[in-house]
Amino acid sequence: MRLRKPKAPKILKKKHILKRTLPLFGPYRWQLLLSMLFVSITGLCYSSMPMFTKHVVDVSIPNRDFGDALIVMIGFVGLMIVRMASWYAGQCFLLMIREQIIFSLRSSVFAQMQELCLRFHNRYSPGYLYDRTLGGASTSVGMFLSMFFNNIVTYGVVLSFSVFFCIALSPVMTAILFTMSLSYVFAAKHFRKQIHKVTKAFNLESNEFAGMLTDLLRGVKTIKAFAMEQRVVEDFNSRLWPLQMKSLDVNKETMRLNFVSEGLGYFISTAVILLGSYMVIYHKMPLGTLVAFVSYQGMITGMLMQLSTVAGTYGSAIAGLEQIYEVLDEEPTVVESPNAVAPESPKGRITFEHVYFSYEEDKPVVSGMSVDIPPGQSVALVGPSGGGKSTFANLLLRLYDPDSGVIKLDGKDICELSLTDYRSLFGVVLQEPFLFNETIYDNLQAVKPDATDEEMRDALTRAQAWEFVENLSGGWHFKVGEGGSQLSGGQRQRIALARCILTDPKIMVLDEATSALDNQSEALVQTALEEMMHKRTVIVIAHRLSTVRNVDRILVLQKGRIVQDGTFDQLCREPGVFRDLHMLTLRGTEPAGEEC
Ligand code: ADP
Repeated sequence: MRLRKPKAPKILKKKHILKRTLPLFGPYRWQLLLSMLFVSITGLCYSSMPMFTKHVVDVSIPNRDFGDALIVMIGFVGLMIVRMASWYAGQCFLLMIREQIIFSLRSSVFAQMQELCLRFHNRYSPGYLYDRTLGGASTSVGMFLSMFFNNIVTYGVVLSFSVFFCIALSPVMTAILFTMSLSYVFAAKHFRKQIHKVTKAFNLESNEFAGMLTDLLRGVKTIKAFAMEQRVVEDFNSRLWPLQMKSLDVNKETMRLNFVSEGLGYFISTAVILLGSYMVIYHKMPLGTLVAFVSYQGMITGMLMQLSTVAGTYGSAIAGLEQIYEVLDEEPTVVESPNAVAPESPKGRITFEHVYFSYEEDKPVVSGMSVDIPPGQSVALVGPSGGGKSTFANLLLRLYDPDSGVIKLDGKDICELSLTDYRSLFGVVLQEPFLFNETIYDNLQAVKPDATDEEMRDALTRAQAWEFVENLSGGWHFKVGEGGSQLSGGQRQRIALARCILTDPKIMVLDEATSALDNQSEALVQTALEEMMHKRTVIVIAHRLSTVRNVDRILVLQKGRIVQDGTFDQLCREPGVFRDLHMLTLRGTEPAGEEC
């Protein structure tokens, strides 16, 4: 027997992460170039600011020429207006690009989640997945992109121009200033690694926490029913505190980086002012040059400080991207064959040939199941709980692939059929049907977008739902709430049934589809179902034997095997699991042994 081992997630290197992220910018290269142009204008204007002061100090003041100072400062104001306008234009482009990059990351993660099979979704709760990919991770990527565009690009340009002006003012002082500034690079490198490490730990804790939180919020009814509120709050607090401590670690590392950067800034200022004063005192440099140089030094160290903060955000963004790419790299276990074809005029014959399956390694749930269900037959799967009935349906719907053996539709391996076409042959009504938080009308349209109002009304009528839908406020435009929570269990089930009727499926899978109905509705829905059963293959997962009297055939599943196969009457007559179960049912509801 072949068992599929879950793959360990690949460890992504930073180089690979960047290599994969850069092409995302490809479609926006023209906007990027244009924004770079605006940013360059901003940088040029900004970096020329101290040169105006230098002119006033070195030329206008010594010549006692106020008119000259006035003209220079009017030029300064004009240049600043140009600077602000180009900054605004550049930012508009850059922010749009940032949103588009985050959009494409989030959108591909969501598409991948839809693509991934249930094995993946069983591993993680929705809250965990949301936080890991669409929440925390993409937020840190977004933060980095804003900072990158706002700071790195602008400051990079300003720095380049400032270096140019500084060299023109004093090559010696420039050499000293830049040699000392190298210390920023080392500090940023050290802290970036630390920040990446603590952010990764924080993200993982946050993902786990989000998963737990969604679970608790979903289970609020059970929590109240068992008066577990106090314990749940204590649990919540005991998980929240470590998460906040991890967030503190991230902030502490960022703070340390800022602390070191600021210290370095003061140190460099002191050195520049001392050296400059010496040169001015001994007539090696005019005062205006020192004033301009001190301004440049302030600008440059300020920017280097900001850039080291960006380095910290970069560490967080890499941690976020790592998490996003891990999900994107997850390989679906149920995949469509490259030569997949649409089923040709499907009849609905279902064949299981020596099928083995397990959710977890070494714990077989289906063990060598073989069965042939002719087209149009209605088959009930019965047996003790945990026998493999739902798993049979999961395998049939190709929500999982067997570990070995073959499942066929009309004699063709279902793995050779196109997944969408194959699944669209099915209509499924689950024991706890899920409705989207939309109107009843939208829920019906979701499965058949081209359905006419007439068809939808007919489906609701046949599912015994029209009467209650009509009495809802807004009729079928009534919004059903999250998962259908604004409707009763029976109403939800009838809407789900109408949804199934509307698609007119070739094969129907009913997982105890009438369990949430009251006796009167159950009888009515059962009639509707029986009418539908005439034309198609139907698999009924029956947790209660009362619903299987009218099916053509009953398969009794126990420990992942078919242990009995026959009609209701046949199975009632032969000793075995079915008769035992039936006797139990009768003892609970009717005088013992009445039927068999
Ligand atoms: P039935 O529908 O007959 O009650 P199931 O097919 O739901 O039985 O379950 C068969 C066995 O598989 C049970 O032992 C159950 O615990 C196990 N099982 C079902 N779903 C999963 C899952 N997602 N992961 C691991 N084990 C599962």
